[in-house]
Amino acid sequence: MIESAVKKIAVFTSGGDAPGMNAALRAVVRTANHYNLECYGVREGYNGLINNDFTRMGPRSVKNIITEGGTILKSARSLEFKTKEGRQAAYENCKKLGIDALVCIGGDGTFRGANIFNEEFGIKVIGVPGTIDNDIFGTDNTIGYDTALNTAMEAIDKIRDTATSHNRVFFVEVMGRDAGFIALNSGLATGAIDILIPEQKDSIEDLFRTFERAEKAGKASSIVVVAEGEKLGSIYDLAKATKAGFPDYDIRVAVLGHIQRGGSPSCADRVLASQLGYAAVVGLMEGRTNVMAGLKSNQIVYTPIEEAIKKHNEIDPGLLKISEILAI
Ligand code: ADP
Repeated sequence: MIESAVKKIAVFTSGGDAPGMNAALRAVVRTANHYNLECYGVREGYNGLINNDFTRMGPRSVKNIITEGGTILKSARSLEFKTKEGRQAAYENCKKLGIDALVCIGGDGTFRGANIFNEEFGIKVIGVPGTIDNDIFGTDNTIGYDTALNTAMEAIDKIRDTATSHNRVFFVEVMGRDAGFIALNSGLATGAIDILIPEQKDSIEDLFRTFERAEKAGKASSIVVVAEGEKLGSIYDLAKATKAGFPDYDIRVAVLGHIQRGGSPSCADRVLASQLGYAAVVGLMEGRTNVMAGLKSNQIVYTPIEEAIKKHNEIDPGLLKISEILAI
């Protein structure tokens, strides 16, 4: 092993929480311990940097957390860190403790903060993509996405049982303010007759045509999966418009909400989090900074944070087509 470019690191979880953040934290702490780096945990994301909330972490402080959802360090959205004064205070605390580098586990907001912090004060930063939305460029999947997707799928399966029993039409909203990955994949996996996502231009006429096709094909119950950020309207607007167009339909709305963020991480998320937590520490030791560790085609890759923020993972339009063909 080459001589490490860093000796003392701090790790935090920030922004929207995601299942697998604990597994990533465990990987960071244990990899640091393995390579004799001093490692500190920071509570509540950027707030902890500002409030000097650092705790020395060793391999036993992350015992049994690989199975746990949420984040033991807690997460936060820090308004103060968005100010120069806030970041100055955060930097002073890092300097006092002699922190060489930060491992930032979070989504694109977290990375934006890390990028600015690095450019202003020169402190080394490395990102680990932890978000259920899967919208971060530079990694095939983000930590938490697989678990959230499976949670959504299981919930929609349960809705399907009741929809079938009563010949109902269900509109189900899943998370994804800017990205339709959860909607597209959970919709395909549960046989939704239509999937509405922000990346795609939808129209109420198209939706009505789908209902007509489903009816003609003899479907007695239907599920439409809608991403939170769908541009055509809220799930309630869509249900209302459908009722106006099809007065005989027994329509129900279900918003899955925060259950999608919770729960024990899936095997895929635990493995990904372990790989990326490890890669973050090794990347820092090799002298990398202002990059994000990701996994592409099963290879660990480092993408400049600036690029990870600016670009987005594209959804696969082929999946939408397959879903349309298979659902009816
Ligand atoms: P996520 O990381 O899940 O996208 P947020 O968008 O809430 O979540 O970002 C997490 C935190 O990152 C914010 O609360 C804030 O402290 C910090 N952050 C986000 N954008 C900026 C920015 N432009 N400048 C400084 N800090 C930022």
